[in-house]
Amino acid sequence: MIRLSTMRSQIRTVADRWRSQYHLSEHDWAHKNQKALDAIDKETATRRNIEKIIGNNAWVVPKTCNGCGGKFAVTIAIDDDDYHTMHICQECIGQAAEMINLP
Ligand SMILES: [Zn+2]
Repeated sequence: MIRLSTMRSQIRTVADRWRSQYHLSEHDWAHKNQKALDAIDKETATRRNIEKIIGNNAWVVPKTCNGCGGKFAVTIAIDDDDYHTMHICQECIGQAAEMINLP
């Protein structure tokens, strides 16, 4: 699946991603965080809001481009299976588009 990845899209999915990782957890903190993440306004919450809930900023981050290695807030994400996602920046997408259009 190919999709647009932005800081906002990461904020929109953080509660579901947390649930996937911690739904079987026996730790109260995991369930407390889930309730807080479920309660955020996904359209107005900031990266800082998420960091305050979780205690680190690892869940909403600029993504590393698999083409050039740079870090970008906006990428095209390509999910190659349930566990691996590649991210490609706008510049690399442009280079790839030029390559595929060559005669
Ligand atoms: Zn790139």
